Amino acid sequence: MAVLRVLPALPAASSASSSSSKRPWRPWPCERLTRQTERDVAIGLTSLVKMCWTGSGRRLASSRKAKSRTTLAQIQARLRARKEARDRRQSLKRDEEIPETEEEVSDEDDEDWEDFGYASGYVVGGAERHGQVLVKVNQQTLVCRIPKGRRAPNMEPIVGDEVKIRTSDAEAVVEEVLPRRSTLIRRQTMKPQVLCANLDLAVLVLSTEPNFSEGMVDRVLVSAHAQSLDVVLVLNKADLVPRGSEARHRVERRLFVYEKIGYKVLFVSALEGEGLEDLRSLLGGRTSILVGNSGVGKSCLLNKLGQGQIEVTVGDISEKLKLGRHITTTTTMHRLPGEGPPAFLIDSPGARRFSIWDVKPEELKEHFIEFIPFARHCKFSDCRHLQEPGCMVKQAVEEGDVPPERYMSYQRIYQVLLEGTEGSFRSALWTESEHAEKRKRASVREADIGAPLSAIEIAVLRSSLHHLHHAFKGFCCKDSLRSMELIMTDENKDTDGMGYAAAAGKPKSDGG
Ligand code: GDP
Ligand code: ZN
Repeated sequence: MAVLRVLPALPAASSASSSSSKRPWRPWPCERLTRQTERDVAIGLTSLVKMCWTGSGRRLASSRKAKSRTTLAQIQARLRARKEARDRRQSLKRDEEIPETEEEVSDEDDEDWEDFGYASGYVVGGAERHGQVLVKVNQQTLVCRIPKGRRAPNMEPIVGDEVKIRTSDAEAVVEEVLPRRSTLIRRQTMKPQVLCANLDLAVLVLSTEPNFSEGMVDRVLVSAHAQSLDVVLVLNKADLVPRGSEARHRVERRLFVYEKIGYKVLFVSALEGEGLEDLRSLLGGRTSILVGNSGVGKSCLLNKLGQGQIEVTVGDISEKLKLGRHITTTTTMHRLPGEGPPAFLIDSPGARRFSIWDVKPEELKEHFIEFIPFARHCKFSDCRHLQEPGCMVKQAVEEGDVPPERYMSYQRIYQVLLEGTEGSFRSALWTESEHAEKRKRASVREADIGAPLSAIEIAVLRSSLHHLHHAFKGFCCKDSLRSMELIMTDENKDTDGMGYAAAAGKPKSDGG
């Protein structure tokens, strides 16, 4: 305590050295000293006092900077004291196995890196737009902030991600996102949207009211296959198509196409409980996402499988993330009740409309799984199964081994990927050579797939002539505008119900 008693004399010394100084000279925080560190800190302080009395020390002490900043000597003394105190505590602990006293603990508390705890968990609720996610750590759910800038995690965390978090009394923050096993990506306004991470299964929910489209089914199958996910097709509202009815036969025929090529198809009714147990056993031990258009009954299915517990969880998640009443605007992950291997089910509002993102036109054929056994025997190894001679896939279609509906769907999706209406066309993710390749391909007339219109012509067909006139006036010559008008002739306005031109076999003039 000798040193501490000396300290009150210092302000006078300090003010003597600096008449302009109004603030009292404060020693290095003596209230934090403990009995054990006292001697060590005293050494540090003595050297500090000595320094202050030397000329340079006095000049330093009188400068404004010296008052606001910690001096090097203070830091050194502090570090030395801490190190020695820690060593002594450890040796004491080893000798006597005594618990740390409160004083010792509080001595360490001001080292901010020791305030924090680290934990890992998985993201169960996402509100990325709000800069926070809900992370399940053991049995606890924590709202974790997603730091920005230098401290930002390696990836934006999304539902299903395994994350490392750092917690303090004040808050929890996401430190790191562990590598993802799989994801499901869709295209949203020219950008990719990763719906969730570490999935095993996509549950594609369909219904007859509203009626499903094969185009949507094929897009989900392609995207899921691109991420090596299993898919199960679930026709919900089976109660609306009673067994033996004409409507049932019709929907069975449509879904048999998928069953034939190896996809699992289930008929269920969230309302009446039909097929729910089969679905539940498929979900066991896996992380799955519900995909499907609005109104097909995904929420009803989730609540039935959750046996009434999920509404409560969703409410809880939205309350924790402070999302207010818009509880369906965030992706949520739920553990389904029941025995056996745990089943996790993800409900994502983003999974209601589906456009392909992460597949290039030339890769599409690999995701039509029924083509694969035949494609091996095509004459050309890079056969696109369009107009190439010696194509065994086309032969298989003719012989009934590949469903013609699927082959037509392949042609359509190939075309939209080529145009860039879907896929990552013109995205920053494409390299310049890929861009060049795509531009070249898009400019080549795709007469070989039975759709003779080039990308620009289809774009023209989709826009109104009025718009085009406005857009091109002053930039194009009269001839170009005239050729655009020609493209807009009635025979080309036919669409195949999906908004794409179906003027097969009717070559048109150049698109200008
Ligand atoms: P979501 O938009 O996919 O989440 O669809 P919802 O779960 O909100 O359901 C849309 C509508 O379908 C609701 O009116 C439900 O009552 C109805 N619905 C859901 N499941 C079934 C079912 O199995 N049978 C019948 N008949 N109606 C259902
Ligand atoms: Zn082929």
